[in-house]
Amino acid sequence: MCQHVSSFVRAGAQSAFDSLLPPRCPVCDAVTARDEGICPACWTAMPFIEQPWCARLGTPFSHDLGEGALSARAIADPPVYDRARAAALYQGTARDLVLSLKFGARRDVAGVMGQLMARNGRELLEPGSVLVPVPLHRFRLWQRRFNQAALLADAVSRASGVAMDPLALERIRRTRQQVGLSAKERQINVRRAFRVTDAGQGRLHGRNVILVDDVLTTGSTLAACTRVLRAAGVARVDVLTFAIADPVTNDL
Ligand SMILES: [Zn+2]
Repeated sequence: MCQHVSSFVRAGAQSAFDSLLPPRCPVCDAVTARDEGICPACWTAMPFIEQPWCARLGTPFSHDLGEGALSARAIADPPVYDRARAAALYQGTARDLVLSLKFGARRDVAGVMGQLMARNGRELLEPGSVLVPVPLHRFRLWQRRFNQAALLADAVSRASGVAMDPLALERIRRTRQQVGLSAKERQINVRRAFRVTDAGQGRLHGRNVILVDDVLTTGSTLAACTRVLRAAGVARVDVLTFAIADPVTNDL
């Protein structure tokens, strides 16, 4: 009998066995009792962004400058999108979490990342708005098998009740990875890379869109998406990411 046990049954037994193992922290791999998997030490070390922050860029202020205050950077070089918000700075534990999601080791972390994004993005998450993840080109989607921005948008949608539309925007040109490129090179790299789909045109016209991605670095990808959304008649484009690269110390 034993040698005739089907692979189907063996696969079932394996997954049942996996569910009995204690969860491991996606950042440091320590065994943890928490369901969402992030151990208390890594949670404490997370570089969360807390208010007060710049009303435009969502970057933290060291002291309170009052409601609606703008950072010097937002005044000198305002982004094309309206407002950006993020849960954490892209360093340490937050960076490890982003990489853990992106490279597929731990897709389950999207849930807790989305909850943290919904918390810091609550000013953007109004009823009637639409969450739109930054799309991958279909070839890269085929290679990676999932889009981390779509996983995060889905998690934010579940945490906030705001609808998500993953098919409204598409990437029509394969682009080089942005890592290692200068700000100017990034802009050129993503130019004409996106388009609003025919179905998206009807669904997004006149709506407020919240673009979702894992990390905001120079913002060139999000700016390229913003331009095509505006051209399609979207009323307002805000940006919600899990992490934001520290504009002073990070030059990714
Ligand atoms: Zn840990």
